[in-house]
This record gives sequence, C-alpha cells and structure tokens, in this order.
Amino acid sequence: MEAYSADRSLRGKLRRRYTRLAFRKPLRLALERPMITFSFDDVPATAALAGARVLEAAGLKGTFYICAGLEDGEGPMGRYGSSEDARRLAAAGHEVACHTYSHLDCGQADQAAITADVDRNGVALAERGAPDLVSFAYPYGDVSFAAKKALGGRFKTLRTVQAGLVTDGADANQLPAVGIESADGEARALRWMDEAARRKAWLILYTHDVAETPSAWGCSPQVLARLAERAAAGFDVVTMAQGAARAGL
Ligand SMILES: [Zn+2]
Repeated sequence: MEAYSADRSLRGKLRRRYTRLAFRKPLRLALERPMITFSFDDVPATAALAGARVLEAAGLKGTFYICAGLEDGEGPMGRYGSSEDARRLAAAGHEVACHTYSHLDCGQADQAAITADVDRNGVALAERGAPDLVSFAYPYGDVSFAAKKALGGRFKTLRTVQAGLVTDGADANQLPAVGIESADGEARALRWMDEAARRKAWLILYTHDVAETPSAWGCSPQVLARLAERAAAGFDVVTMAQGAARAGL
C-alpha cells in the first residue's frame, strides 16, 4: 500500500547520498527561459480528472507517473485512476510515465525485482496507449545503486522527491523535484519558481491527488490552477519527455 513509509533512517539518508555518486548521467541544459514540469505520482483518479483538466484549461500538458497495479484501488489519497483514465491521458497528449507496477520501494528491492516490476508496468501501460515510456519516478523517492543501474539505461530521466532545481550537469538518473503538497505546498512551489526563473533552471513539480479537500500529499484544483497560470506566463512548460529532449537526452 501507499503508506509513505520509505526508509527515513540515517542509513536510508546515507544510501540516497552515496547513490548520487554512482551511475550518473549528466544532462546538458542552457535555457533562454526557465522551464517547468507539472507531474503527478501514483495518479489518484482526481489527478487524472481534475488535475488534467486544470492543465488543459491553461493549454498545458503534464506527466503522469502511473502504477498500473494500483488502478481502481483505494488509497490514502482517494481512489486511484482506472485503465480508462490512463488511456484518456495518453490520448489527450499528456505524458504517461512509469512509477513501477506495484509502487515498489526501489531503495530496498534488488535489481531483478525492480526490472520485473517495471517490465510489468511497461506491458500494462502499452495496453493503455503508452508504448514508449521514457520517464520514471522512484516510488517514495527512494533510490539505490541497484535501482539506478537497473533503470538508468532504460529511461531518459529518473526522478526523486528531493527538493531542488535541474541545472546544467544534473544527474538525469536522480533528478530533484518539489512537492505541491501539504498546507504550504503552494508557497513552497512559488519560492522554487522564483528561484528557477532567476537561475533559468528546470523546475519539476509533483503532487498526488487534486481535490477540494486534498490529502497531505495533494493540492486543490485552485492551487494547481494558480501555479499553472503563473507557469504559463513566465516559463516554458514541458512534459518530462520534452524536458529530457531539450536537455540532450
Ligand atoms: Zn508514488
């Protein structure tokens, strides 16, 4: 289940830090304008519906990191999206991306288990109209050598939940991202947008549910709409796949 129980111990923190040094894939970025991506993890039904609608109303596309194994199930962020939701997102030109099949903790699993779970998600998402997955997000944001090794050659980008900006030389196998979640999610996102604009960097935002009363990991449609409006005015808004292409990947 989606319990956000990744390894928060000192050992876990050190593992994530060591992994920054291995299996690196430096990207190249020289932007005229700052760049921003809106992404959604796990993809609760509200993200696939209300979240997608907010972006579409602003003329934007998002990246949806789907776990096909969670489809239709109930979770702490509400019901997960259906296979039909995934199909509609793909057909509407959003990017369908990979988040493992079962929301596997890649910080703990071995390479064979990671590969098998990602293979299974790839087959399922191909059936939903997304045959060419190029973007991956680590469930719980948790990384390991095994995961970077298993996935680094397979996807153009691997995204974490460590806050930061993507700048020239960043490791495409362990990209930072900023959460639009909890009560101060909007303010935090705005601060990082200011910083991205100042540095002409790439900011990757992520959230989960998009609901009037969001969970601790989600945001409201109003917050998403305000951020989308601000982004459309001052940033090149790209999917992860588009961003990767612009970063030479
Ligand atoms: Zn997740």
